[in-house]
Amino acid sequence: MTKLISALKSELMQDQIKPIFQDAETGDWVTRGQVEEDVARLKQRLIENKIGNGDRVLIALENSIFYPALMQTIWELGAIAMPIADTTPGDELRRQIATNQYSAIFVQNKFVSDLSQDLEIKKEYIALNTIEEITFLVNDQLLQVRNQAIQVPIKETDLAMILHTSGTTGKPKSVGLTQELLYNGAIHDRDSHQMTANDTALILMPMFHVNAQVMTLFQMRLSGGKVVIAKKFSASHFWQQVAIGRVTWVSVVPTIISILLLNENAIAQYQEYKSQIHLRFLRSSSFALPLKKLTDFEKQFNTQILEGYGMTETASQCTINPIEAPKIGSAGKPFATELKLVADGKLTDEANVVGEIAVRGDHVIADYLEPHADSFTNGWFLTGDLGYLDEDGYLFVKGRRKEMISRGGEKVAPAKVENVLNELPFVEQVAVIGLPDDLYGEEVTAVIVLKEPKSSKRLVKEEVLNYTEHKLAKFERPTKILFVDKFPRNTTGKVVRPKLRDELLATMVGGNQ
Ligand code: ATP
Ligand code: MG
Repeated sequence: MTKLISALKSELMQDQIKPIFQDAETGDWVTRGQVEEDVARLKQRLIENKIGNGDRVLIALENSIFYPALMQTIWELGAIAMPIADTTPGDELRRQIATNQYSAIFVQNKFVSDLSQDLEIKKEYIALNTIEEITFLVNDQLLQVRNQAIQVPIKETDLAMILHTSGTTGKPKSVGLTQELLYNGAIHDRDSHQMTANDTALILMPMFHVNAQVMTLFQMRLSGGKVVIAKKFSASHFWQQVAIGRVTWVSVVPTIISILLLNENAIAQYQEYKSQIHLRFLRSSSFALPLKKLTDFEKQFNTQILEGYGMTETASQCTINPIEAPKIGSAGKPFATELKLVADGKLTDEANVVGEIAVRGDHVIADYLEPHADSFTNGWFLTGDLGYLDEDGYLFVKGRRKEMISRGGEKVAPAKVENVLNELPFVEQVAVIGLPDDLYGEEVTAVIVLKEPKSSKRLVKEEVLNYTEHKLAKFERPTKILFVDKFPRNTTGKVVRPKLRDELLATMVGGNQ
């Protein structure tokens, strides 16, 4: 038995009446004993359907308290979980099914009849403690050649889960995480957060990303704590969920922090529940958190924010701000990860040298499922992100290598300019990108979503120019300012800059700007 399976099984066996997962919307709890029962029943049903080692199981479900039991069952069988968005459109789902050899598929009930019409699949139903009833589809055509499920001992190096990167820079990449990688990643997360059985996490991020799956759910399973699971983030329920679930920490993305700061219901709800809130911290990652938002949030909601840095390829985080000594603006310190910078073609950990962030460790993949030789060198994974370490070993992420703007040969980090523009009261969100320029190659362009869309654009432009004059070097100052109603974002909430750039260029060609 692998470390992963043994840890999950032994957690459920102890103190069986202890509540473990709560549905944030209904308030219903399930106990460890109930989850153990569900895993056993589901496992039996999958084995009866000849599903075992190495079989791929596609999961396109919304977040629910059933998710953890399903993941555990798949891992105990030595099968491979492939979580994708529950909102994946029907055609894309069919394409995924056709190009991957899935043995079983768990999808929202609304898709079931649609899919079973045009695929050779068998419908199965099961009612469990964690879900009223779930229909799952079994790929009969693929499995009919077998007499029974493959059941052989599971190895640490067996694939346990295939996740997709967020697709911020292009097509999402498939990342295969082994039983061992998942275990190691979650153990490091747990230890770096000093997580204990007294902690309760709230999941708001989608379960098909590494953040909710490993960072929160799995870390808590290895801590023996509890997890409150919401379908998605809701500003008007956040503080209530935190208070009622006695939540001690939440993994969020910067967008959630910005929304909570602005949303009047959230502000009023915080006042109402203030005395019942026991948060130790909010953990923020995924993209840069503007400094002003961090300090405003800590002041307004009396809650510490710890910024961390990680990615799908590292089965969770590489750095995190230590609870006792966080540094504002930094993504924290490496915990169990070796981290260096590639500058002038060499690996270095010298302070204040900017380079591409390279990581190595027992939680980092050795390659993508479709090999990418360019991203790996001598056991180091090249993240594509730029950053530097300060004298105390704290990492400062400067943005993605490909997103750096090159203005007449000078390199401009969008995050630095965005941090300055975020200080302006009329800016709700801002993204800084490079747009083609005949003279300088690229022009530093600030794309702004205004708090009050009706504000005078001319005055806003003037204020941006005045403000940045004292805050940024000349080559860093935006020379073009554009306005949009909202940014194209992916399912992690990140601005998809290539798409934003294309959209802006298209409108500019059309002569609208
Ligand atoms: P793709 O690789 O498909 O373009 P992605 O890199 O956004 O998508 P993820 O694995 O979900 O996919 O995200 C990891 C990336 O998120 C990191 O490589 C980094 O660019 C960014 N990131 C994570 N944490 C931080 C942080 N604290 N500050 C800035 N960027 C961060
Ligand atoms: Mg990436």
